[in-house]
Amino acid sequence: MPLRIPFSRVDWLNTIVLFIIALLALIGAPLYLWNCGIDWFIGGMFAFYVFATGLSITLGYHRLFAHLSFRAKWPVKLFTLVFGACAFENSALNWVSDHRRHHKHTDQEDDPYDITRGFFWAHIGWILFKLNPLPPMDNVADLRKDRLVMWQYRWDKVIAVMVGLVLPAALGYWWNGWEGALGGFLLAGVLRVFLVQQCTFFINSLCHTIGRQPYSSKCSARDSVLMAFLTFGEGYHNFHHEFQHDYRNGVKPWNFDPTKWAIWLLSKIGLVSHCRRVSPYQILLAEIGEARRKADEQLAYLDASSVTVCERARGAVHELQDRLATAYHELERAIADRAETSRHLVDRWRREVRELLESLSKLEPLPA
Ligand SMILES: [Zn+2]
Ligand SMILES: [Zn+2]
Repeated sequence: MPLRIPFSRVDWLNTIVLFIIALLALIGAPLYLWNCGIDWFIGGMFAFYVFATGLSITLGYHRLFAHLSFRAKWPVKLFTLVFGACAFENSALNWVSDHRRHHKHTDQEDDPYDITRGFFWAHIGWILFKLNPLPPMDNVADLRKDRLVMWQYRWDKVIAVMVGLVLPAALGYWWNGWEGALGGFLLAGVLRVFLVQQCTFFINSLCHTIGRQPYSSKCSARDSVLMAFLTFGEGYHNFHHEFQHDYRNGVKPWNFDPTKWAIWLLSKIGLVSHCRRVSPYQILLAEIGEARRKADEQLAYLDASSVTVCERARGAVHELQDRLATAYHELERAIADRAETSRHLVDRWRREVRELLESLSKLEPLPA
């Protein structure tokens, strides 16, 4: 069947802008590097802009404004709004509205980057085509009260062009005349925009296609270490969809999540506060619940001859989860009531898990 492109639905402005960015980044920037090379000033400016705009999207647009996972003082807001605009990913208000709908309607028709419509659609198609009328921005009432957010909403395009493209070109000119200006524009400007945009887009496409689902398989979101390296820690997308208000995406201590580290550092110098964290028990329960679901699936395929052992294993896993869940809820209630028995409950919980693990280890091995 021939591929039918709905030309009447193409968003020409977005398409032309993205096409020019790709053309300059993939042809213009390599040609410049081939002919002029790169010195420490242009290289440093490129690195600064990658970090400033990339972190402004992950730390500012995403974790601060979209999910309210911490509170920030105005310097943090101003920085992330200015450099977030320089990523050419729309104003924070528009971005957050789309993203909140993505979380609310993941994998459904109202999800703006719904992966069930295909990899291309989730990656970039939703920006190039406007198949449906734009939904009302009725999910960002909280941000409309923020004067800085509304200021950026009004001046988004001007900030993007002036700070994102003109400023690096002007600094390059100051450093090395017209050659420096071209380097600043092509590398710290256009190539950087292209890289940051594509990495953000990969969260919506790749992180809903490839990777592990240790916390939940309710939706298509997946954890990808590779994407975490490319997106300042945003690749732990399965955890993020399950616990979207946690300021961490890579929740384990060994996870690569520079955005989490940056938020933590900012909290230490008083620029950020009220960092939201899910209780470790809740995370553990999610992991056990998901492991049980996968174990159930695998047990269902096993040979009937091992049914006794399978049933015993299944029963033990179920019992483990139920007892953990009970202990967790008791503990939460005790903490909420400020009961003095909370310590006693933790000890009981530990004892029960230990006993259960011992009983699991006594299970007969599967027949060869
Ligand atoms: Zn997602
Ligand atoms: Zn999110």
